[in-house]
Amino acid sequence: MSFHSIRWRIAFWFALFYIIAMAGLGVFLANQVRVNKLQDLENQLTTEAQMLVKVLEPVDFTEANIPTLDEAAHTWGQTLNARVTLIAPDGTVLGESDEDRAGMDNHLTRPEVIEVLETGSGSSLRLSNTTGLDTLYIAVPITRAGQMTGIVRVGLPLSEVEAIVNSFSQMIVLSTVITSIFAILLAFYLAERTTRPLRQLTEDTRRITQGEINVHPTSTTTDEVGELARAVNQMAQKLQEQIQDIETERGKLGAILRQMTSAVIMVDPQGRVRLLNAVAETMFGVEEAENLGKSLVEVLRHHQLVELWQTCKASKESQALALELPGKRLFIQAIASPLDGLLAGHVLLVFQDLTRVRRLETVRQDFISNISHELRTPLASLKALTETLIDGALEDPPAARRFLTRIETEVDSLTQIVQELLELSRIESGRVPIQFQKFDPRKLVIGACERLRLQAERAELTIKTEYPPDLPAVMADPPRMEQVLINLIHNAIKFTPKGGLITLHARPHYNARTGNNEVIFEVRDTGVGIATDDLPRIFERFYKADRSRSGGGTGLGLAIARHLVEAHKGRIWAESTERKGSTFYFSLLAAEEGEGTQKPKK
Ligand code: ADP
Repeated sequence: MSFHSIRWRIAFWFALFYIIAMAGLGVFLANQVRVNKLQDLENQLTTEAQMLVKVLEPVDFTEANIPTLDEAAHTWGQTLNARVTLIAPDGTVLGESDEDRAGMDNHLTRPEVIEVLETGSGSSLRLSNTTGLDTLYIAVPITRAGQMTGIVRVGLPLSEVEAIVNSFSQMIVLSTVITSIFAILLAFYLAERTTRPLRQLTEDTRRITQGEINVHPTSTTTDEVGELARAVNQMAQKLQEQIQDIETERGKLGAILRQMTSAVIMVDPQGRVRLLNAVAETMFGVEEAENLGKSLVEVLRHHQLVELWQTCKASKESQALALELPGKRLFIQAIASPLDGLLAGHVLLVFQDLTRVRRLETVRQDFISNISHELRTPLASLKALTETLIDGALEDPPAARRFLTRIETEVDSLTQIVQELLELSRIESGRVPIQFQKFDPRKLVIGACERLRLQAERAELTIKTEYPPDLPAVMADPPRMEQVLINLIHNAIKFTPKGGLITLHARPHYNARTGNNEVIFEVRDTGVGIATDDLPRIFERFYKADRSRSGGGTGLGLAIARHLVEAHKGRIWAESTERKGSTFYFSLLAAEEGEGTQKPKK
């Protein structure tokens, strides 16, 4: 609670004013009481003095009568309960009630006596020379035949008057204190009541400032404070509407930034990062919350990008740069554009990830170089064979026949490459329609096994099948899947030395990630295996792990198999240990319940 508050100021001034007013009134009243009391006393003493004048008129105020007069002064002093002094016209004290007359000086100099001598009656309020007390004196002359024969003076100490005035003053002080306490409390209560809506308003305004949007300052009063509350309320509502508008705009902007596939960073004229979207966070490995307000140098830690921003800022023209982010193997294109209007001096940096595009470009180049290589070998043989024929082999029919047979083989090999390439390109471009139908995976396994059994036996290999009795039906294009399986078995035969074993296996599987039932096919061999480095690349076009062994292979078989399986929304992968053997897997979706005769199993 602050003493500077309106509440305290009102209460303080109100109480101060009240106390001053009460004190002034008290002093005035006390004075008035004193004056009245003195007036009363004066009247009383005058009456008493005049009475004494009547009584003492017959007595001569001479020194001879001192005993009588002194006696009378004593008696009347006691009767009137006042000090009675009888004075001769020359000022000699002839009788005195309270003091020893003999010790008293001439009284002609006393103010009341002077007054009597001058005007015929006198009064004085003063400190008594004799008693040392504040005393009110009334002096009245005794006249006989127009001649002043003596003076009667009656005096009364003012202690009584003072006592009355004092007790009155005390009463006034007491009542001032008591009423002041009430006045302060009242002032405080009133001030509290008056300022309460103001304080409520202050509190509401503070909450609004802190961002609470559901605060509505209200006031039931119709006074100025009520008016103010209503005005603040309107302002708050306007503010809330505007905040909501801003929020909506911000939401839209946020949604756009989130959905963008490019990284976006906005930099202010001082080079501090003001905005950073999610893609930028991942691209540069930074968090928006921690990096807003930090310098671009600190956030990007890449001098080329900082230079790009500087050039753009200085030239006020868009700048572009393609570069590789160190350590991330990301190839990006950065575009810096100057902003204008409200954001003049700011620069928007947009980064596009070109890694994929670059990789595709590399794949394309590799493909061309591979295909040239693959074609060059048979073409070179053909060239050599035909040259030999032209150079004279034609004259020797048995040799010519041999050469022609070899030419045919080379042409067959070329044809196979071209056919497989065509096939691959057709599958890749989606021109091979997949005719899904529900069928029994066992038939697929048995069919493929039978087709290659002879070939396997020729290579002195054993081939066998394994599958549980409750395999669910799959949805696939049977001839295409048979092609995949044959490609895999073909490889197994090719890369397994004599006496080896090839196992075809099928089993049901529940894919927890996709929530689908699947059938997984396996082609396991006990062959040469594949080096760990080669394993991730064997599904690429023309990739051959071991060129010496792969013989007439084109390196396209697995690429075709992968595309066919993926066109069926399945997966294909391989595991292998060198010199121990390899296992190739692929999965197919099980036919859904109701689609198949056999229920898919989880
Ligand atoms: P290719 O026509 O050369 O067989 P593929 O695409 O079918 O082409 O296979 C690519 C490469 O993968 C092969 O050259 C071989 O090195 C490796 N490979 C495939 N299957 C096996 C396997 N069962 N055992 C060992 N290596 C294999």
